[in-house]
Amino acid sequence: MRSHYCGDLNESHIGQQIELYGWAHRRRDHGGVIFIDLRDRNGIAQIVFDPDTVEAFAQAERVRSEFVLKITGLVRARPEGTTNDDMPTGQVEVLGKNLEVLNASETPPFPLDGYTDVGEDVRLNYRYLDLRRPEMQEKLILRSKITSSIRNSLDQQGFLDIETPILTRATPEGARDYLVPSRTHPGSFFALPQSPQLFKQLLMVSGIDRYYQVAKCFRDEDLRADRQPEFTQIDIEASFIEEDEVMSITEKMVRQLFTQVMDVDLGDFPKIPYSEAMSRYGSDKPDLRNPMELVDVDDLMRQVEFKVFNGPANDPEGRVAALRVPGGAKLSRKDIDVYTKYVSIYGARGLAYIKVNKLEDGLEGLQSPILKFIPDEIVTQLIERTEVEDGDLIFFGADSAKIVNEALGQLRVKLGIELELLTKEWAPCWVVDFPMFEKNNDGNWTSLHHPFTAPTCSPEELVKDPGAALSQAYDVVLNGTELGGGSIRIHQAEMQNAVFEVLAIDDEEAQDKFGFLLDALKYGCPPHGGLAIGLDRLVMLMTGASSIREVIAFPKTQTAACVLTSAPSPVEDKQLKELNVRVRKPVEADKPKD
Ligand code: ASP
Repeated sequence: MRSHYCGDLNESHIGQQIELYGWAHRRRDHGGVIFIDLRDRNGIAQIVFDPDTVEAFAQAERVRSEFVLKITGLVRARPEGTTNDDMPTGQVEVLGKNLEVLNASETPPFPLDGYTDVGEDVRLNYRYLDLRRPEMQEKLILRSKITSSIRNSLDQQGFLDIETPILTRATPEGARDYLVPSRTHPGSFFALPQSPQLFKQLLMVSGIDRYYQVAKCFRDEDLRADRQPEFTQIDIEASFIEEDEVMSITEKMVRQLFTQVMDVDLGDFPKIPYSEAMSRYGSDKPDLRNPMELVDVDDLMRQVEFKVFNGPANDPEGRVAALRVPGGAKLSRKDIDVYTKYVSIYGARGLAYIKVNKLEDGLEGLQSPILKFIPDEIVTQLIERTEVEDGDLIFFGADSAKIVNEALGQLRVKLGIELELLTKEWAPCWVVDFPMFEKNNDGNWTSLHHPFTAPTCSPEELVKDPGAALSQAYDVVLNGTELGGGSIRIHQAEMQNAVFEVLAIDDEEAQDKFGFLLDALKYGCPPHGGLAIGLDRLVMLMTGASSIREVIAFPKTQTAACVLTSAPSPVEDKQLKELNVRVRKPVEADKPKD
């Protein structure tokens, strides 16, 4: 039986006979002495074989990379001058007495003993080997510590871990469903859950009071961004609870997690109303490590004749905002061109700027192609309002509020990173007071969260002016990434019906899709609310991984496939027949665009 993990050996084990199991990470033949770096889940230990131990030495000679070995030996201090301070086990080595090759290995398709730039396809194809790499193991270990800390915190806070079905009905979280044909109900389909939303609400009706689940969710979205079709949520719901309480339970959980796993004190999470987040940061997931803010200058620009500015400044849907960039005066014309191109992705038609070289010199100390269009006294007010200093630059956005927010909001993020302006390592916050609805492209209302989110107003007010209604929803944001969100739910049928009315879901459709929920609301449903945190994204932030696929053991590719198992795959006709499914050859127009 294993006596120690390789990675755990240290000076306290010197003199002990030990038994190790692992993989040959590297083998070096040093003229008469053979070194094998043996690797297991916890790290690497150096084993030395000298020719005196004849049998073990002979075995060591045939060892190649990734052979599976059992080794017994004696822990000893490394001879002076051969210690390795970069290696946790670098002060000791094991003098090998016995070596058993438990299994040989073919030469792996990519080396595992050091960083090599292997294509992701190859890594995913041989994921079981990729996961042997120490950096991948570290991520999975950290992920396990993270879920364990979260479970502990929720257990301590009185939450019960309850599973909800995977074969279920559609849950409206705004994505496309994965469907599973039913054999026993020909022509009918299950949907995989986009979230456990409705079941967790039903558990509140059942009196469970506090529920959580580390829940798998499925959303068939186009994977343009760093997303996965199946992902994991920490899903939480509680009864007799208000917004602040859900937020404080979550904060406690996340703070404890960061202290336990990373030794980081996140401090308090500031609460920022949605409208303020949009106006100060141009985003509903502001990165508060970044000190820059958007400053409204509509009132000033209304007074200038320059169309580019006064048009949007006078338009109720428009916005003119300034972004002070500390140290930005050093940006070259070429840099500014690159940023101008960048904001054009978000629809901005230009990127006006003023460089502040020397305030003491008044207008002479400024440099900008737009100064000639703006009266001096307005320029002076701009300088005061943006609180610029020598060496700064001001960028301007002038367009519809939507375009300005997106363009300057994204520019703020980019500049913060590129000009190294971030002031701290971690900056969490809550965004609160979201609107209930937003208009989609056809001019119809859709829920900003989901249709079970409670508004702050009465059903009558909601129906009368849906655009003005705020919700009792909250998002938790870390370093500009939305970690998760939730809301207080509607617990009375009258309010739920009012929301369906705004969303143009008629009684028949509501009954058909959510009849079970509407019924449950009639049988003493307690006030309740909750939230869900995206575990994969959280782990990604905590491990500093470059992609969400790096923190999932077996992720899907960008085209939502598993290359390892070749899924999805065609199935036999017999299976289709049993399911009463006939497959139509996809015509070109139906194929999803990559
Ligand atoms: N069901 C929501 C989601 O998956 C989270 C929640 O409202 O609790 O985004």
